[in-house]
Amino acid sequence: MMPPKRKLSSRIPANAASAVAYTDRAGDAPNKRSKLSKPAAKAFTKPEHPTKDGDEGDAIVTQGRGGVEQQDEDAANFDHSRPEEKTGIVDRRFYPAEMSNERCAMYNANEIPRPMGILNATLERTKDAREEIQNGEGGQAVIHWFKRDLRIRDNTGLSKASELAKKKGVGVIGVWIMSPQDWEAHLVSPAKCDFELRSVKLLQEELAELNIPLYTETITPRKDVPKRLLNLAKKWGVKNIFCNLEYEPDELRREERLVRLGTEDGINFEPCHDDCVVPPGSLKTGAGRQFAVYSPWYRAWVAHLHAHPHLLNERPMPEQNPSGFRDNFKTLFDREIPPAPETKALGPEQKERFYHLWPAGEAAAIDRISLFLTEKIGRYTATRNFPAKQSTASVSVHHAAGTLAARTSVRLARDVNSTKKLDGGIEGIKGWIGEIAWRDFYRHVLVNWPYVCMNKPFKFEYTNIEWEYNDEHFRAWTEGRTGYPIVDAAMRSLNSTAYMHNRLRMITASFLAKHLLLDWRLGEQYFITHLIDGDFASNNGGWGFSSSTGVDPQPYFRVFNPWLQSEKFDAEGEFIRKWVPELSEIKGEGIHNPYDKGGEAEKIAKREGYPRVIVEHKFARDRCLKRYKAGIGRESA
Ligand SMILES: Cc1cc2nc3c(=O)[nH]c(=O)nc-3n(C[C@H](O)[C@H](O)[C@H](O)COP(=O)(O)OP(=O)(O)OC[C@H]3O[C@@H](n4cnc5c(N)ncnc54)[C@H](O)[C@@H]3O)c2cc1C
Repeated sequence: MMPPKRKLSSRIPANAASAVAYTDRAGDAPNKRSKLSKPAAKAFTKPEHPTKDGDEGDAIVTQGRGGVEQQDEDAANFDHSRPEEKTGIVDRRFYPAEMSNERCAMYNANEIPRPMGILNATLERTKDAREEIQNGEGGQAVIHWFKRDLRIRDNTGLSKASELAKKKGVGVIGVWIMSPQDWEAHLVSPAKCDFELRSVKLLQEELAELNIPLYTETITPRKDVPKRLLNLAKKWGVKNIFCNLEYEPDELRREERLVRLGTEDGINFEPCHDDCVVPPGSLKTGAGRQFAVYSPWYRAWVAHLHAHPHLLNERPMPEQNPSGFRDNFKTLFDREIPPAPETKALGPEQKERFYHLWPAGEAAAIDRISLFLTEKIGRYTATRNFPAKQSTASVSVHHAAGTLAARTSVRLARDVNSTKKLDGGIEGIKGWIGEIAWRDFYRHVLVNWPYVCMNKPFKFEYTNIEWEYNDEHFRAWTEGRTGYPIVDAAMRSLNSTAYMHNRLRMITASFLAKHLLLDWRLGEQYFITHLIDGDFASNNGGWGFSSSTGVDPQPYFRVFNPWLQSEKFDAEGEFIRKWVPELSEIKGEGIHNPYDKGGEAEKIAKREGYPRVIVEHKFARDRCLKRYKAGIGRESA
């Protein structure tokens, strides 16, 4: 069950560069198991662009969820006998070796440029040239490239593309590219791929009603995506391409490349902020740094939105394309939606089940959020932690695929509140908006600390914790056979529905990292490869929080007691009974811990073959505290 070992790649290409904001809170301890005691300065000399000719050729090796890294020397000096290297946490088909702690510290010291900074610098450098293109002759059409924004309404990039097309008297072409290598490298779950494909189909139908084609194509080497997009633009006589930004390093670097190559080709490539309610980089501490703690960041987020209310405004709907447009671009209207690649295909039973369980597309998103706003949001704060109550919005899948913008959610919630203030009025509404703010927070984090996308914890000195790599324990956790009913119910619900309630994500993540002392990155990978709402920033943030290695985390000495969590949040055992049917006959509180309770509860558990705990709570807690302390070399978190 451990991920397979990856083949090593010897090609570790160059990095690009320019720095922006700076932080305080991450640690600076070297990686004890790294052979590199000091950063080797030579390894980190950076060219201005990813490679000498400004194009990365076939050198697409990046790291984690991102980033071409110049690490040849670093990699050579790194201790690759480390268990975390051997267990395939870094997917070496796509990424270079695990980064050292020293290198993380260099990010924090602004000695390594951040991908967002590089993109911003390129946008600034090419500004005049791109404006000239945009103000020049309009071409035959304007492209909007759909990615994680599979909707027509309240879509910044699409809205801007439509506005420009109207001004130029031309139409809009929608493009959606399936990149199987991106899905593979980013561990996207088959459920999520299927959801996206269903949403793309619905998007295509809706766009057709506006006489807008959605051109789809599968591009296998992911490095070819930028050039192919520009070639399509040239073929169709397009001068302007819009898209909405994704904030992971791989994507930011790809967009930076598109801006450069596009400008050289006389094409204006225009990435827009859309996915976050407040664009990353907008909020700074008094000292001008990126916040590393949620509460002050949230206050700044609210204040920023109160001061800039337009950020919540609905973006105008795209206009109908001119009537003759279809005749000129007839073939673009006939594109089929490709099937999922073999490695991401669902079986027929799952396909059918998820079709009903997770209706796709923006109409379904609006249905879901409307139901939540009319029936549930008022009691959200009081009920949100109880998995059996089904009291949350269940819109994360839509936020992740972009069938619903986070901005839309906040605006709609604000508009049913008793005040326009985002941090006031009805408790449930205020609380729900605060949860969407977490989504923004984790995106702001990954823009400022890109190494979190590269398999490193935000608190990178926590890399030194000695994890267990116990295959049997990992398998038991994934299959819901740990002997802790709440953990098992949660994992089985994930395996069956591709979703898990937030409280249960916290319980199971804490259990993996602290009770089993397994490397939290194995759990992070398992979640992302199984969740339908898998989202790098939120998943990484959640795992960092629960394993105490992330930004603004639980202190490491807070070890959830799964039985107490169970008694508190599933008091009647309703959720457990649903997902662990072996225990369904147990009456009363024995459901939470049948073997400990003894009597009838134990008898039923034994009879039904429910496993005993795979690790004792007290032993696990003590071991966890010892290992964390030893790993980080101090008593305090
Ligand atoms: C270990 C762990 C892993 C997680 N992985 C993901 C993930 O891959 N994708 C994902 O979307 N969320 C993730 N979350 C956050 C959260 O669990 C889900 O967003 C939430 O359960 C989705 O259900 P909902 O739409 O009913 O949420 P609601 O409670 O209705 O919240 C509304 C929206 O706010 C956002 N949100 C809520 N809680 C969080 C949070 N803690 N962090 C970030 N955004 C939040 C989501 O977009 C959500 O749809 C993770 C949390 C943990 C602890």
